[in-house]
Amino acid sequence: MATTPMKATTTKSELKMGKATREAYGEALAEIGRKNPNVIAIDADLAKSTFSATFGKEFPDRFFTVGIAEANMVGIASGLALSGKIPFASSFAVFLVDKGYDQMRMCVAYPHVNAKFVGSHGGISIGGLATHREVEGSSLIRRRLPMLADTYHHVATLRVRNMATVGGGLAHADPNQDPPPSLIALGATVKATSANGSRTIPLDEFFKDYYETVLGPDEIITEVMVPKLPANTGAAYIKFLPRTADDYATVSAAAVLTLDKAKKIIADVRIALGSVGVTPIRATAAEALLRGQPLKTEAFAEAGEKAKEAVDPISDFRGSAAYKRDMAGVFVRRALEKALVDIRQQAKAKPAPKPAKKKLVKKKGKRR
Ligand SMILES: Cc1cc2nc3c(=O)[nH]c(=O)nc-3n(C[C@H](O)[C@H](O)[C@H](O)COP(=O)(O)OP(=O)(O)OC[C@H]3O[C@@H](n4cnc5c(N)ncnc54)[C@H](O)[C@@H]3O)c2cc1C
Repeated sequence: MATTPMKATTTKSELKMGKATREAYGEALAEIGRKNPNVIAIDADLAKSTFSATFGKEFPDRFFTVGIAEANMVGIASGLALSGKIPFASSFAVFLVDKGYDQMRMCVAYPHVNAKFVGSHGGISIGGLATHREVEGSSLIRRRLPMLADTYHHVATLRVRNMATVGGGLAHADPNQDPPPSLIALGATVKATSANGSRTIPLDEFFKDYYETVLGPDEIITEVMVPKLPANTGAAYIKFLPRTADDYATVSAAAVLTLDKAKKIIADVRIALGSVGVTPIRATAAEALLRGQPLKTEAFAEAGEKAKEAVDPISDFRGSAAYKRDMAGVFVRRALEKALVDIRQQAKAKPAPKPAKKKLVKKKGKRR
């Protein structure tokens, strides 16, 4: 399994949604730089990707790239902060934590130094050659994205999962497969690589037709990248299997639900379905019905009804088209309900605040 960070460029879906967070970061940094001459930006050779370059362009005398040296960058930021500057140090989150952790602990956290660190491109990256079984069993994925581990766990049998690869599964592009709806709902992207370089493709633009993808004949999938989920997000994948436990789904649905801080409003939602069309289907109209609305479980049934309009199933030995359409509505509702349960369970699982430390009272006459 690869542990590389996510691709540096802004994806099409980010552009569609508006601005990538890191793009807004670059602009905001420049804005505060205009107001305060003590603001300084430092980067570890990734300024274009983290968008600290936006600041660097406007204030070249207050912008430093330290090379591929995050640990060094943290030390420099600490020194600048102690000299009265306001340093913002940025890099890919994985590098910042992996390489800069010790320095952050020693030079920033212990001495309470006011330096700011900005990690971009958080998330999980899975190598194209990782097997389904590796995803299912990865402790990282089970902890951070249990819904994804669960999805891969529901693919066929152990023998199939031991052999099938993540890249091969997606390139295969059978609309009945399990991982695509979950990965689409999670906002995953695929890295397609050829002798001419690499490009990043949002998974909801990846499937073109029955067993057909947008991959060129010279491209292979080398990586699947899943972004970090925001706070108050729950995710669920459910598969309707009326025949045998190792069958392809009759209908499947994945939902990723994000609530606002007060957990009263649906801040965001992504819904995708499998086995109900020539490709996996993202139910965008159903999502639009929920986004920004107060959290009411009745709304999930309405979204299910809306999702039925997006599907186009065929009749086969797993069920008639009409039956599959009805089940699509039911499974979207259930996936949303399960995602909500996930949010509530996560809240319950959070460790209780530590009790205040009792003062140690030395007993008289006793040596320590
Ligand atoms: C008995 C059985 C039951 C199954 N049941 C399920 C199920 O319930 N749910 C489910 O989701 N799936 C199921 N599958 C499908 C299984 O997940 C796919 O067979 C598997 O994902 C294909 O992966 P692979 O690595 O074996 O790819 P291959 O079969 O080796 O390749 C598939 C295609 O993709 C191409 N390819 C391979 N790797 C890449 C890459 N990295 N980049 C670009 N192209 C590539 C190959 O050239 C080929 O055209 C089942 C399969 C079997 C055999």
